[in-house]
Amino acid sequence: MKIGIIGGGASGLVCALTAKTDDNEVIIFERNKEVGKKILATGNGKCNYWNEDQNILHYETLNTNHLSEIINSNTEEKVLSFFKKLGILPKIKNGYYYPNSNQALTIRNVLEEEAKEKHIKIKTNYVVAIIKKENNQFIINNEIKVDKLVIATGGYAAPKSGCTGMGYEFAEQFGHTIRKPLPSLVQLVTKKEWYLKEWKGIRTDVEVSHVEFDLNKTSIRTIRREVGEIQLTDYGISGICVFNLSNAIARGLSEGKKENVEIDFLPTVSENELRKIVNTNKDIRRVLNGLLNEKLVNVLLEFGTDRAALVKRIKHFLVEVIDTKGFDDAQVTSGGVLLDEINLNTMESKKEKDLYLIGELLDLTGDCGGYNLGICFRTAITAGESIRGDKHA
Ligand SMILES: Cc1cc2nc3c(=O)[nH]c(=O)nc-3n(C[C@H](O)[C@H](O)[C@H](O)COP(=O)(O)OP(=O)(O)OC[C@H]3O[C@@H](n4cnc5c(N)ncnc54)[C@H](O)[C@@H]3O)c2cc1C
Repeated sequence: MKIGIIGGGASGLVCALTAKTDDNEVIIFERNKEVGKKILATGNGKCNYWNEDQNILHYETLNTNHLSEIINSNTEEKVLSFFKKLGILPKIKNGYYYPNSNQALTIRNVLEEEAKEKHIKIKTNYVVAIIKKENNQFIINNEIKVDKLVIATGGYAAPKSGCTGMGYEFAEQFGHTIRKPLPSLVQLVTKKEWYLKEWKGIRTDVEVSHVEFDLNKTSIRTIRREVGEIQLTDYGISGICVFNLSNAIARGLSEGKKENVEIDFLPTVSENELRKIVNTNKDIRRVLNGLLNEKLVNVLLEFGTDRAALVKRIKHFLVEVIDTKGFDDAQVTSGGVLLDEINLNTMESKKEKDLYLIGELLDLTGDCGGYNLGICFRTAITAGESIRGDKHA
């Protein structure tokens, strides 16, 4: 049996390693001159490849009823034992897994070396442009025939690492539905306001919430709240806490909704306490300088010096989001191939026999923190096991 895998990224490599036996032939087609280019950029070059906290709330898909078929303890155990067998010792910081070397290179190199040792063929500088199916075989670029085909091409995010969305076209060719791909884990562009120029460069710990107004604009409902360091920029806001809000906000904007974010610049102090601190005879600038970044104090005071209004501004600073940054800046693509068109016990397409779809290409997106590589590994191992015959569809 000959197995073709389009894409030598995280999911393609892990799938290849899992699928390979002494009796089959596995070929990876990779457009770049090397495999795993994106892995090298992950986790700021350290590769945060897993997270201990596997609460289902860290994941998003249109087909939520199918989520637990992928995100479960069975696939979790398989991923962890896969890395253990490869000899990668994890360094676990607050539940975030990194290789003990602190280098993403370790993960990439181990996967590549293992693939070579197992005699997996890696065809680099090779773009798959055409797939045909004839006599139960897939024909790649009119020249290479395979019996089973895995699409592991990723999405649109970080196109410099080779992702141009071709996998969506292949999936559509075989009858799959694509939920609109959008940039996710990405910076938010806010309404142009004078203060953006003033607050540029500030980094401060906040609570940041994706909020929505009721119809009369009288009350606010919190959709999701995150804590962490925000980066205030001349286009809007950034930082991991902001990235984690970006998936839902990008989707809302694409559906024409108005999207707003509320920032609490002083999450460790309650509104009541802050009111007491601010209501003194002391100079207001001096009081605020004891609490907040000086540049931020300047911005807040520009709006006015009324103390009650300042408390509101510090605890409930509202910004309107008008866009997100694009795929060049995004860490992942949300949306993709709908899960309910795939047999999630095998990752085989329900539309086309012997076709498998895995990784970021799927309509399944995780938070920052190792969740997206986690999705790649879980789906890659499931597909690989099915292909090698451990499981049957
Ligand atoms: C800067 C950055 C940091 C990140 N950090 C983390 C992190 O710390 N933790 C985490 O969990 N996630 C992180 N992510 C997300 C994670 O890297 C991706 O979700 C994951 O790598 C996707 O893997 P994949 O195999 O599905 O696709 P990719 O890794 O994108 O691989 C797809 C491969 O397919 C190739 N390809 C595409 N089309 C073709 C074609 N037609 N022919 C041949 N080859 C083709 C591409 O060249 C590419 O090598 C980060 C992403 C970025 C951009």
